[in-house]
Amino acid sequence: MKVSRENQITGIEKVVPTVCASHCGGSCLLKVHVKDGAITRIETDDGEEPQLRACWRGRAYRQRVYAPDRVRYPMRRTGSRGEGRFERISWSEALDTVASELKRVRGTYGPASIILSQMAGDIAFLNQFGPMPRLLNMTGGYTGVWGITSFGQGVSASLYTYGSLLTGNNRDDLMNSKLMILWGWNPACTICGTNTCWYLAQAREAGARIVAIDPKHTDTVATFADQWIPIRPGTDAAMIIAMAYVTIMEKLYDEDFLTTYTVGFDSFRDYVLGIEDGVPKTPSWAEEITGVPSRAIAELAREYATIKPAALMAGIAPGRTAYGEQYHRAAMTLAAMTGNIGIHGGDAAARAWESVFPGYPYPVDPMTEIFPGLVGAVLNPVEEGLGAADGFFREPQVHRANLADAILKGKSGGYFTDYKMLYIAHSNDVTQLPNINTLARALRSLEFVVVQEQFMTPTAKFADILLPVSTFMERNDVTYGVGTAFIGAMNRVIEPLWESKSPLEIATALAERMGIEGFLDREEPQILEDFVKRNNVPDYAAFREQGTYRYKLLEPYIAFQTEIENPLNNPFPTASGRIEIYSQQLADANKPGLPPIPKYIESWESVNDPVVKRYPLQLITTHFKRRTLSQFDSIPWLRELEEQAVMISKEDAHSRGINDGDMVRVFNDRGQMVIPASVTERIMPGVVDVPHGAWYEPDERGVDRGGCANVLVGNGISPSGGFAYNTGLVEVERL
Ligand code: SF4
Repeated sequence: MKVSRENQITGIEKVVPTVCASHCGGSCLLKVHVKDGAITRIETDDGEEPQLRACWRGRAYRQRVYAPDRVRYPMRRTGSRGEGRFERISWSEALDTVASELKRVRGTYGPASIILSQMAGDIAFLNQFGPMPRLLNMTGGYTGVWGITSFGQGVSASLYTYGSLLTGNNRDDLMNSKLMILWGWNPACTICGTNTCWYLAQAREAGARIVAIDPKHTDTVATFADQWIPIRPGTDAAMIIAMAYVTIMEKLYDEDFLTTYTVGFDSFRDYVLGIEDGVPKTPSWAEEITGVPSRAIAELAREYATIKPAALMAGIAPGRTAYGEQYHRAAMTLAAMTGNIGIHGGDAAARAWESVFPGYPYPVDPMTEIFPGLVGAVLNPVEEGLGAADGFFREPQVHRANLADAILKGKSGGYFTDYKMLYIAHSNDVTQLPNINTLARALRSLEFVVVQEQFMTPTAKFADILLPVSTFMERNDVTYGVGTAFIGAMNRVIEPLWESKSPLEIATALAERMGIEGFLDREEPQILEDFVKRNNVPDYAAFREQGTYRYKLLEPYIAFQTEIENPLNNPFPTASGRIEIYSQQLADANKPGLPPIPKYIESWESVNDPVVKRYPLQLITTHFKRRTLSQFDSIPWLRELEEQAVMISKEDAHSRGINDGDMVRVFNDRGQMVIPASVTERIMPGVVDVPHGAWYEPDERGVDRGGCANVLVGNGISPSGGFAYNTGLVEVERL
């Protein structure tokens, strides 16, 4: 890497390396040109391979730093909640007000009446999930929210099957695959590990065959796939189970692998062959459900069972559906049946931490260090002595999808208490959570709302006190590589703009106001240096100067390689020590919708739901090139990339008299929006896509004009706690 030479001041411009980790599943090197304390342009890695090249969002970050809609100063609301009218106040006044409201609400109603809602923002050690839970725990506790919005079903399915969340290989191992099945996976837009597409391209050039299964002809399909198989949303488990049927009937499965490493294959086989329920799960059975021709299902099953090694890259989108756990568990089972786990060129087909930390297991576990508020390393007095854990849930937490219901109903709705105050930290809930119209109503009912944010988001407009947050360009932190083994130095590139502060600074200042001693046991620079050194980085100063420290690996890291190569000494971290196709844990739990073996379970709002007469189109809400979740939505350069529109097939559009570019109404019983139509052959008939993450922008009649998909998405929760953003029915009509 040539960064250290370029980092010297040349004339009056210097180049500072830092790492973007904008929760997209990437972590990329940025070389930021700074002149007179201002960012002038941003380049990316152009050194040795593998480069850590930034995408268009990282390259456009200058516009984000200087965006006119950044929150610049502490603000107090002057209009009604949601209206977005504020007046500037001092930090002193803002902190005094927040501290006094925290004390008042806790003293009057108890600490559980304070809800903290926070999401990822940047994937960073210091300024992510840690500071606010620590502060609130040191002042009596709070009610947390649970539920992983991105890949909850993948997480639970991985724990049930493998007993682990470290299920991913390093990305360069894709080059060892002879066949890749990209199932609902679109890294050309969503990145999912810096340079994933670089490795896909090289694998393809080396002769790998790539098959993509997706309701959409995505950019990944267009760029890499030899074959595209469109499939009805929410039916993926049925196709995988039918592939298992072919694999069993034609005796193509790896019996030795199943005998040595798994438990419960016999039960699964009985279900697949129809011995259990009288319904053989043939390709014809699956064709009826999925819309995929039976011949295509059978051919893919034969290919996956006979071309070795093969990687079933089970993306998280098909899991973001009702009963999406079954898709993930079925994919892992098929990977086991074909012996593709723990080997180069294969894949465990799990997608547990797919978009966060796949691959190399770092010396310091990011799950316990970076996610202390989520995983439970921080003790919350409100939770002490209460309820058993169920996945990531601890009593008395509120599921994120039920946030509005909990606020509106409290104890009368069966919740732990009545909720009076909401503290939202880097979480654009009024866009990202389902059933937005109800959430907006709930937020208006609270006694007090604090939001700390970088931007005047739809959520920020609901704040009573709004606190300005710095970007990662304005603070120091540390991040991890995703799919490539490195630690990234998030270097402060410029001084914090206006009066913005980092999340850690805000929590520390509140701690001082509230008389907490020992909130930090060391100064921030020391905390960061200690963390980096614990990750076996030998030279901290060089790390900061170069922007990354890369671990030297002799070969790509493979999940479960040791378990497969030496099973006697390395059991899987499950109760049985094996891959659990049959989960005794699930059998004991006896929970509806969570059978002990993977099964196809028809989702709510499927094409067989009676409501289909009024709302005949299946809605998917895919991730979009110009955003990371809801981040970057207002950035002009990125808005030029692609318009927020509802993608609709030519067939469905023409039957409704809709032409490309027409303004249309997309609606169901939960809400409605007005956006342009993108009429295309790149989506299958019967399915429409409103890309996820566009900011909620209701007009005076409550009709969303921003294209916020979550006005249409219901708050149904999949049995293990995951969200169902890709389950729902809508209608589209021309205006
Ligand atoms: S947005 Fe993601 S992929 Fe793009 S530069 Fe940042 S970390 Fe990399």
